[in-house]
Amino acid sequence: MRQKRAKQYRKQMLVYQHTFKFREPYQVIVDDELVMGCSKASFDVAKGLTRTLQAEVKPMITQCCIQKLYESRDQHAIDIAKTFERRRCNHPPKDPVPPHECIKSIVNINNENKHRYVVATDNERLRYSLRKIPGVPLIYMNRSVMVMEPLSKASALVSTSKEKNKLTHGLNSVKSGVANAEQDDETGETETKKKRKGPKQPNPLSIKKKKVKSGENEQQQTTEKTKKRRKRSHKKREAGQDEGEGKGDGDGDGEGEGDGEGKGESQGESQD
Ligand SMILES: [Zn+2]
Repeated sequence: MRQKRAKQYRKQMLVYQHTFKFREPYQVIVDDELVMGCSKASFDVAKGLTRTLQAEVKPMITQCCIQKLYESRDQHAIDIAKTFERRRCNHPPKDPVPPHECIKSIVNINNENKHRYVVATDNERLRYSLRKIPGVPLIYMNRSVMVMEPLSKASALVSTSKEKNKLTHGLNSVKSGVANAEQDDETGETETKKKRKGPKQPNPLSIKKKKVKSGENEQQQTTEKTKKRRKRSHKKREAGQDEGEGKGDGDGDGEGEGDGEGKGESQGESQD
């Protein structure tokens, strides 16, 4: 039975590690009542926690809880609590909050166990309220045996949904996947845009280029050729028509010839 339970607890802590990112040494918030109970039963709380969680633990007690112990004047319990790390809760020492309210306030932060505390308390009401927060390992004393509760429904839900995410979205963690996806989207778009330009350019642009170039070149070529032709026409005129009548005619002929020949030559280039 003992071994079976130990294996169960180890498995559970693995879930807390993987799903809720618990790390050793586990921080265990112990309430004043549990300290007093263990003190009376001469049960070593720290050793019990180490054995139950099968890991390094850091027992902690809040200011309000130790204040309650001071009021009890149970010196043995106070001495035990003094060996624990004090958890500052920022409740005024002169006006402490009821211990369970205090523990709730440091464990439940926006319905999240932000600081990844394990909570050890015999108080059923406190455990009931902490079960609703995903990822709060709960420990209590059953007679003289320290027991860890099975995963709460809230914890199990988060755990299974994360496992599903791993199955559906690959083995990478969800968060890293999202982060990468965002980056990939940005870089991916630019890359795809570049790539799109790449493959489109060679084939369609080989045609388009000629059109565009021919369009661009047409102007240049036509201007060049009209100039040339003007010269030619001038030469022709000079050669053929020495009479100065045909300035207007010459210009008109030159432009017409230039356009026609320019297009023809550009098409010829495009075919090459
Ligand atoms: Zn407090």
